[in-house]
Amino acid sequence: MLSVNGHQVLLDCGLFQGRRKESFERNAHLPFDPRQVDALILSHAHMDHAGNIPTAIKAGLRGSVHTTHATRDLCAAMLPDSGHIQEQDAAFVNKRHAAQGEPPVQPLYTADEGAAALKCFCSYSYGLPFQVVPGVQVTFYDAGHILGSAIVVLDIEEQGRKLRLAYTGDLGRPGLPILRDPQLVPDVDVLITESTYGDRLHEPLDEALEKLKAAVRETCDRKGKLFIPAFAVGRVQTIVYDLHRLMDGGSIPRLPVFVDSPLAVNVTEAFRMHPECYDDDVRRFIVNDPHGGAFGFDLLTYVHSVEESKALNDRPGSYIVIAASGDADTGRILHHLRHGIEDARNTVLFVSWQPPDTLGRRLVEGQKQVRIFGEEHQVRAQVQEIQGYSAHADRGDLLNYIGGLRGRLRRVFIVHGEEGPGAALAEGIRALGVTDVVRPDPGQAFDI
Ligand SMILES: [Zn+2]
Repeated sequence: MLSVNGHQVLLDCGLFQGRRKESFERNAHLPFDPRQVDALILSHAHMDHAGNIPTAIKAGLRGSVHTTHATRDLCAAMLPDSGHIQEQDAAFVNKRHAAQGEPPVQPLYTADEGAAALKCFCSYSYGLPFQVVPGVQVTFYDAGHILGSAIVVLDIEEQGRKLRLAYTGDLGRPGLPILRDPQLVPDVDVLITESTYGDRLHEPLDEALEKLKAAVRETCDRKGKLFIPAFAVGRVQTIVYDLHRLMDGGSIPRLPVFVDSPLAVNVTEAFRMHPECYDDDVRRFIVNDPHGGAFGFDLLTYVHSVEESKALNDRPGSYIVIAASGDADTGRILHHLRHGIEDARNTVLFVSWQPPDTLGRRLVEGQKQVRIFGEEHQVRAQVQEIQGYSAHADRGDLLNYIGGLRGRLRRVFIVHGEEGPGAALAEGIRALGVTDVVRPDPGQAFDI
């Protein structure tokens, strides 16, 4: 939250994601008064940045939500979906409460309230400055993290003093498929940076592509099925694009591909609508592709209904299914795994980091027996993992980026990361010659 010339400007308003009870408490009680917020600036559509906007609006958010065109359109699909999940969660808790004679809980917000939040959005192009409150001009720079993601640049003027503040949101990786690379911002005085992977390096992207190739080939040779658990936003579109390129290039066999996720269908539509966010490779690919699209091809089917999804289980021969969730803990992927995990010809290919206490984590750790929908299953399918698809800058990318900002940069605030990565990144930034590096505590205030 920035206070400038007596106005309040909020950067992002995400959901805290953790254990149910703690999450609900933290998300329901905002640590500020939304009625005093004159502008909310949204860096990108991931739920840990955008997911609590409906709560702020319900509590009387005074100003508008300012973001890029693509982020607005992703939110149009994702906020109602998030509301739907909140409703399901509340219904689950209320079943238990009813049995124990406790009063029912209300969802944080509903699907309808998620959709209604869009009324408060104003959207902008990259690179075009606009004023949000007197003395604060905002320009969105490309963050290269997910479709529509922005580095928020604020040109601030207060009592004759001028300052350029940049907030990374989540910083992407150079070379990610589909998206342009993170854009350097000139003349930054103060930076607020994320630190998710401040202490780690990712596997290179071309290694990820090699592993995908190998998984498809080997599964096809065994006449098996390839299950790819993936989150609906970003990762699904990246995998579809890579499979499409590899099949067109003849380096993997041409197999039917099914994207089994209703949210992914809507999100892919937002990808199609925003060619202004693409990098040159995907633009060239679309021009040369006979079907004229990067996210659809003759072998690809988007599965809508539950019936179609279930019918896939009985389909003979090799095919590829991409379904949420990415950690295989919820969503339609579970139905596919229940049917396919005991068949040694099949492969389960994880393409994102697996959080603790999820089915995905148990599988990548090599457990040979797992529970799915309350039933024990023997793991006979191959389990493989690709780490290289991460859409986050790693330590090297973060330090490269921040190194590129040097010049006027005199102060860095480190946010959005656990303690270890944050501290490691702070060390690295000091070694670049920026001495004023701060890792603020929640609620702490600074005069800049
Ligand atoms: Zn993100």
